[in-house]
Amino acid sequence: MEKVAGRFIRYAREHTTSDPESKTYPSTERQTVFMQKLADELREIGCSEVELDEFGYVMATVPANGIENAPVAGFLAHVDTSPDFTGENVQPQIIEKYDGKPVQLKNGVTIGPKEFPEIVNYTGQSIITADGTTLLGADDKAGVAEIVTAAEFLLKSKDIKHGKIRLGFTPDEEIGKGTNYFDIKKFGADFAYTLDGGEIGELEFENFNAAGAKVIIQGRSVHPGAAKNKMINASLVAHQIISMLPPFGTPGTHRKVRRLFSPDRYKREC
Ligand SMILES: [Zn+2]
Repeated sequence: MEKVAGRFIRYAREHTTSDPESKTYPSTERQTVFMQKLADELREIGCSEVELDEFGYVMATVPANGIENAPVAGFLAHVDTSPDFTGENVQPQIIEKYDGKPVQLKNGVTIGPKEFPEIVNYTGQSIITADGTTLLGADDKAGVAEIVTAAEFLLKSKDIKHGKIRLGFTPDEEIGKGTNYFDIKKFGADFAYTLDGGEIGELEFENFNAAGAKVIIQGRSVHPGAAKNKMINASLVAHQIISMLPPFGTPGTHRKVRRLFSPDRYKREC
């Protein structure tokens, strides 16, 4: 069975950046290319009802194993990576037994406790980073790798009894369109979890909505000497609009509701 870290690195090397300017769905052809490979892999590991639909969603089933009447659980992850930085030619690297110090990457990029205090929680463990020239795309290739590896594990181990499990892989999450054409009825889960988070054992039950709007403000340029009641400064209008929005509804000010379970309960060699 392929280990989760190896599978993650294999996925991270695939270029799946989404594009907010695109008029197609999914927004980039490269996501469909990845989805085709993913669908093939899900068939290979033994999933049933594997389907890639016209909008680029992949769904699959891990059939019930002994508890046929249990509610159907779903697991979801998105395959695209953020268009904020390049995701092409990603070169993941494993740092074994991380020593808690800043890590020097290419291009003068450093990741360390100063910018990311949480990194020290992983001292002594293996961590995976990009090489400094691209993003890593752990958001959310890590989720994809976790789900596929867990599915393979459940399909191979006949002694773990479970109900029907549905798997869903979505495009275009990073540009706020991940759910646009998601067929909830076809997915058919009674409840579902998205694996797109941070630390082991963390469960979030509230999320930030990344829906966006593009506002174009057209000002009016007039000679300052004759500007009274005529000049309209577009940046000041933008400022007025922003000041009317609730200030504490942003991801930077709003704390997510989450619960942390003891990571030790979930530790398993994989
Ligand atoms: Zn994500």
